Amino acid sequence: MSAAPRTAVLEARAIGKIFPLGGWFARGRRGVHALEDVSLAIGAGETVAVVGESGCGKTTLGRCLIRLVPPTSGAVLLHGEEVGGILARDPQRFRRAVQIVFQDPFSSFNPRRTIGQSLDDPLRLHGAGDRATRRERAVALMAQVGLTAEHLDRYPHELSGGQRQRVAIARALAPGPELIICDEAVSSLDVSVQAQIVNLLRDIQASTGVAYLFITHNLHLVRRIAHRIVVMYLGQIVETGEASALARRLVHPYSTALFAAAPRIRRTSGPTVAARPAPLQGEVPSPIDPPSGCRFHTRCPHARTRCRAEMPALAGVADRLVRCHFAAEIAATGSPPAD
Ligand code: SF4
Repeated sequence: MSAAPRTAVLEARAIGKIFPLGGWFARGRRGVHALEDVSLAIGAGETVAVVGESGCGKTTLGRCLIRLVPPTSGAVLLHGEEVGGILARDPQRFRRAVQIVFQDPFSSFNPRRTIGQSLDDPLRLHGAGDRATRRERAVALMAQVGLTAEHLDRYPHELSGGQRQRVAIARALAPGPELIICDEAVSSLDVSVQAQIVNLLRDIQASTGVAYLFITHNLHLVRRIAHRIVVMYLGQIVETGEASALARRLVHPYSTALFAAAPRIRRTSGPTVAARPAPLQGEVPSPIDPPSGCRFHTRCPHARTRCRAEMPALAGVADRLVRCHFAAEIAATGSPPAD
């Protein structure tokens, strides 16, 4: 039933994140509940996909894991060692091990510096040798992401969106990381370019053994890249397990609705298009005042009296973890018992 790898590169243990509110809006309120009791582990060479609607906490989770924002509670560990302590003693060790690629490749580069100059920064920072050696390494990194030495002398605006994202991946690879957090890394690209970048990430993983935390709302891509899937709703994990198990069936009512609503790529006589998804019913509740009990009860077609009063725990059901009072019944019969 375990949804965790045997040896974790990076691990989150029961992390929570509350963003405090300011001004009059804060009166009587504790803050934005972005994450609550989130635990996950990413093993060497695997891809863990974190999925959910906007506001589910997946981006905050990525930022907490790389310590761009500190968690309010819980711990993040690199090979079992608390990251806060590593950052205090040897920040470069953590930065070498864990890198991030953001959604917008254009904003992640200085427009006045060439690609070669931008790529040289992490190489110099992590002691990749003299100038000639670093240039050699930069050319090798460009080749690894399907670009050439000639691209090193260009400026960011002279590259396409897909090429810029390839450079962002090369820059993340520069220190030889064990894990790259891909935060909606292909979301701003055309569908066909998304597929190319995902294939590139898979090829790089096969040759280097790097692990990925793939944060996305694009469920079509998740099916192609993930070894394990984490489904989040309003700051909590609601279902997680091996991707192959979740591909066979989903148990949590939110996961079921989310994947049912996902666009599927279909071929027409013309270009590749995404079929229009059916919308999830209802609004996502405010993370400032999350619902009592099960956070999904305001939208769940199976909600019962107990769901409004009591928060379900994330518990094992057959081959996965599910946060639902009636997960076993839903897994067995498709619906919970009568109220
Ligand atoms: Fe739906 Fe209740 Fe399960 Fe929550 S605990 S997902 S409201 S059935």
